[in-house]
Amino acid sequence: MFRQEDLRVVLDVRLDAGVWLNAALVAKQGLSEDDLRKLKWTHRFKFSLVCRMLATKNQDDIEILGKLFTKLLFFQQKVWKFDQNEDMHNWKEIPHCICPDKASFEKHVINQGCPVHGYRCRN
Ligand SMILES: [Zn+2]
Repeated sequence: MFRQEDLRVVLDVRLDAGVWLNAALVAKQGLSEDDLRKLKWTHRFKFSLVCRMLATKNQDDIEILGKLFTKLLFFQQKVWKFDQNEDMHNWKEIPHCICPDKASFEKHVINQGCPVHGYRCRN
């Protein structure tokens, strides 16, 4: 069992910004201390990606950072011991994404003009 403070992920000390890993889910999935360490890293890396994406309007940068974002979300699913399923990713947390909202168990629909995902319609 982990202590509550073991589940805290500090994202920015100055802003006192952070997230908590879901204690019940951590227990249910049987995550190890190493899994928690990896998950904390993914949250800090995600925060830095969000900051970098918000700070740019360059299309190439947005597309590359968006691809990294997707890889990171897949890695999070792996560490959480979930199926690696992009349809379960929350695209609303990806800066610049203008793809339509989806209901929980539907597939993502790509807006061809989306700076993050639109390239998939062009290739
Ligand atoms: Zn999108």
